[in-house]
Amino acid sequence: MATSVPKTMKGVIIEKNGGTEVLQYKTDLPVPEPKEGQVLVKNDFIGINYIDTYFRTGLYPAPSWPYILGREAEGTVVKSGGGDIHGLKDGDHVVILAEGTYAEYTAAPAAKAAKIPDGLEPKIAAGALLQGLTALTMIRESYHVQKGDWILVHAAAGGTGLWLVQLLKAVGARTIGTASTQEKVDLAKKAGAEIVINYSHEDVKAKVMELTGGAGVAAVFDGVGKTTFDLSLDVLARKGSMVSFGNASGAPAPLEVKVLTAKNVKLSRPTLFNAIFTREEYEGYTKELFDVILKDKLDTRIHEVYPLSEVARAHNDLEGRKTTGKLLLDPSK
Ligand code: NDP
Repeated sequence: MATSVPKTMKGVIIEKNGGTEVLQYKTDLPVPEPKEGQVLVKNDFIGINYIDTYFRTGLYPAPSWPYILGREAEGTVVKSGGGDIHGLKDGDHVVILAEGTYAEYTAAPAAKAAKIPDGLEPKIAAGALLQGLTALTMIRESYHVQKGDWILVHAAAGGTGLWLVQLLKAVGARTIGTASTQEKVDLAKKAGAEIVINYSHEDVKAKVMELTGGAGVAAVFDGVGKTTFDLSLDVLARKGSMVSFGNASGAPAPLEVKVLTAKNVKLSRPTLFNAIFTREEYEGYTKELFDVILKDKLDTRIHEVYPLSEVARAHNDLEGRKTTGKLLLDPSK
């Protein structure tokens, strides 16, 4: 028997760009109708990601107005739009990467819905998905990290940072993290970073050069952007890889390609959505991530589960650097 689906739902929309005041919590949004190849998912946990703030502020343009923010969630399949839905059925517990997840229901492409394996708590799956996949795909595809490599990770106690640190440890890399407070330094160390530099009072460049015997690091994973980009290039070794994957402090300034010649630097600007574009890529990497979490007992640190109605507080906390690990939203509140 088909699950009964209401006509309206709670959700968060924006009608213009701006600060957290543009986030509008509504209780009467229409429940979306899944199209062919889509499934309707009733969300239990919604992941907050920095990219949500870029769509809110306008750094990335919203594709339409009004716009429901959010890129990931965990929930239950309640309806299908028909067509190829990759063997999913009503009642399946899935993690999804889809637009419009800041709501009780999301119509998600079935190709980006993966079943949660036995033994993995839904909240953990929700907390791990997007940031864990980002870290996993980058250490493989942006720079294939090898055992013994020195690697620099900025914002090492953040959501994506803690995944990078743990996965780098698992491949035997020597990770140097950066963080702004002692609490964050301790967390990143516990997660597996060999050294964590508190950049509030330590000189990152001097410390990295000292640790690497003047050679610099094989790769930098830089999600901070504007304020760290030049420093990241500075501390790279000859033939090093600069992986610029985000803009937490603003977008990096335009760059003259010739600056890369100084050390034969390889520069990449990956986005997860292109790394897991096909069903095979999404399914393969998700399975690998969840397997490694279960097998190696990796820690999915949840900062807080915020009521959906308190989404503005969550964005303020994230942008105010008050958080460590993952922020989730509970759409029932
Ligand atoms: P985080 O949990 O890492 O939060 C951001 C952290 O960045 C802060 O806690 C803070 O850590 C640091 N930071 C440094 N300067 C600033 C600043 N001026 N304002 C705010 N934060 C600052 O967030 P996420 O893990 O969600 O995202 C991290 C980065 O990864 C973002 O740039 C995001 O866009 C990117 N990302 C990219 C993806 C991709 O596909 N390319 C996918 C997922 C994330 P501290 O206090 O220690 O400095």
